[in-house]
Amino acid sequence: MQATAGENVMRKTGVYRNDLFLEHQPGVGHPESPERLRVIYEALDKENVAEHFLFPSFDPVSQDILRLNHSARLVDQVSATQGQKYASLDADTHISARSYEAACLAAGALVDGVARVDQGELNNAFCLVRPPGHHAEQDRAMGFCLFNNVALAAHWAIQELGMQRILIFDWDLHHGNGTQNSFYDTDKVFYISSHQYPFYPGTGFFVETGDKVGAGYTVNIPLSGGEGDMEYARIVNELVLPVARTYKPELILISCGFDIYDGDPLGGMQVTPAGFAWMTRQMLSVAEEVCNGKLLVTLEGGYNLTAMRDGSLAVLAELCQENKEKLAWNYPMYLSDEQAAQFATSSVACPALDHAIQIATMSGWV
Ligand SMILES: [Zn+2]
Repeated sequence: MQATAGENVMRKTGVYRNDLFLEHQPGVGHPESPERLRVIYEALDKENVAEHFLFPSFDPVSQDILRLNHSARLVDQVSATQGQKYASLDADTHISARSYEAACLAAGALVDGVARVDQGELNNAFCLVRPPGHHAEQDRAMGFCLFNNVALAAHWAIQELGMQRILIFDWDLHHGNGTQNSFYDTDKVFYISSHQYPFYPGTGFFVETGDKVGAGYTVNIPLSGGEGDMEYARIVNELVLPVARTYKPELILISCGFDIYDGDPLGGMQVTPAGFAWMTRQMLSVAEEVCNGKLLVTLEGGYNLTAMRDGSLAVLAELCQENKEKLAWNYPMYLSDEQAAQFATSSVACPALDHAIQIATMSGWV
């Protein structure tokens, strides 16, 4: 299924997948199951789908890279679980024998993706990895997350590529406490999160806007629950895009959770594949405007298997724009022109967003 760049110069959306990610098994009945990825991989294996993407090979990150974001204590704690059939790192974060390897490879996918997107070898990429990362703190695994993949990628881009401005948009249902804390006092990473609130993990209120030189470089949109495509369209149109245009990042990272999908067993949001397509389309468009299209999407949560598959395909179809029509041979178009027009002019009420826009305006971003 491996395509080469020579076959079609336009075909440069990278998809990061590896069966090792299925070997992280937090236990029977755990919502963060290998099935979440298996349904996506199976959809990609269908004829006429995989041929539209590149599938780079990639390596696990070293412990030195892990320590760019994590304490030696956490790295030692997680690496010590190698080969153990089962261990618990917190009430809902469990590991199996190959979880440490999978976690290092998940972070490795993002680092490789950032490197290839930076070099222009890929236009953009989607890392279909697990375990997820955005809850992992510098010194603590939590919330199904062992290491913070997106934070590691951002640290690596700062350290190895000399980047000065990276924008992370986290649309997962949950607040990415780990990511926020990793960059709370720096202006080199701008973190925007929309999430259900109050909800796990409890953080992400309006007043959390950053500290020291990072003051104003964190924006939280704590949503009450029940928000769907029209609200998320407004979040992107009226807040994330203006911030991106003002901040002018050199790279955009998306922490993509499909737990905001309508029907997710853990969440109360109502986003459909059309909504994911719209958000991706807008993020890609602003990335083209400000940073040569350098955009990397990584999987965080999402616990409805249909959502995992259709949400991923909707995001992928947007990422490889020129192949969208061909992908539609196998899958329905996720975003009709009519819907796109509605999303572009959405004016649905969303008080939390209005307040977040006010805060971002005071900081000069909007
Ligand atoms: Zn989540």
